[in-house]
Amino acid sequence: MLGEMTSKKDIRKIDQKALEAFFVAHGEKPYRAKQVMEWLWKKSVLDFEEMSNLSQKTRALLQEYFHVPTITVHRKQQSKDGTIKNAVKLSDGLIVESVLIPTSKRITACVSSQVGCSLDCTFCATAKLKRMRNLNADEIYDQVVTIKRQAEEEFGRPLTNIVFMGMGEPLLNYQEVIKAIDRVTSDQGLMMASKRITLSTVGIAKMIRKMADDGVKFNLAVSLHAAIDTTRTQLMPINQSNNLNDLADAIAYWYKLTKRKVTYEYVVWEGVNDNEQHARALLEFCKRTPSKVNLIEYNPIGDGKYAQGKANIIGFYQDLLERNGIVARVRKSRGQDIDAACGQLANKFD
Ligand code: SAH
Repeated sequence: MLGEMTSKKDIRKIDQKALEAFFVAHGEKPYRAKQVMEWLWKKSVLDFEEMSNLSQKTRALLQEYFHVPTITVHRKQQSKDGTIKNAVKLSDGLIVESVLIPTSKRITACVSSQVGCSLDCTFCATAKLKRMRNLNADEIYDQVVTIKRQAEEEFGRPLTNIVFMGMGEPLLNYQEVIKAIDRVTSDQGLMMASKRITLSTVGIAKMIRKMADDGVKFNLAVSLHAAIDTTRTQLMPINQSNNLNDLADAIAYWYKLTKRKVTYEYVVWEGVNDNEQHARALLEFCKRTPSKVNLIEYNPIGDGKYAQGKANIIGFYQDLLERNGIVARVRKSRGQDIDAACGQLANKFD
């Protein structure tokens, strides 16, 4: 129950060795630990009662000493394009959102890394929420598992991709995000390939360098939105202390170490960056390091502040980039009707 006082330990916070010691101390065989770990991680079964190769006695023992805090789907909405948005309740009652995005070839899970967000990007609905706390690795992992199940049960298809594009800034919760990704990719976990995972960031230069140093194997997307400092600072205040030149240097370093192209996410807004000067600045920025561009549709957040640029201007951006050898794709929004699209996640219930 929520808020229940418990002296029980979170079983997912201890490793196999410690669990072996626990079983031995209670007169059980040490290999039980491996069985339990397989249930918890490989099969994503979190209820001791469902661990069918354990005896009643062993299950009762686990019940007595351990619990498994987990997330629950508080509310589920489905868009007419098939996209599913889950409002997910954490064990302390806070809510984040995670989205399942189906296409003909893929099923993508879009997961959150923080409750709310501390960055004040002026075009994003999540920015209007105060940052309450970071998610822990299990809460991130469980969002992936929830969507994996929905993919299998409701679409009869496997989960193919994961994007960290939900609520929050993943690089401000780096340790837990990495732990969750390690689980998702490990043999003991979901065994997903790192190349199917994309982390999207506002572009914190120092952390991009750290990721490169740490030898991570997933893809990097950077929310660029403007390649001219004054404009980017207006859109994304983080740019003040973390300007385009620092960002470009960090991305070059990332590429040098990982040899993975970066994706830039870019929205064209009327009267903000919908002109040739901005398009050329983006082109110059792209030339600094091998990269590709997703020109993403603007999802209105109800404040009337911004409007999507005209199709011909977006076409101009795309032409200019492609003529210069940079892959640029125009990305249609998904799940707009249920506020599930990029930047619309704001725990809004009717
Ligand atoms: N904090 C991370 C991940 C969350 S946002 C980041 O900034 O990248 C995921 C993507 O949605 C980012 O590219 C972000 O710039 C974009 N986005 C935010 N608000 C949006 C909106 N209203 N319309 C379209 N894209 C938006």
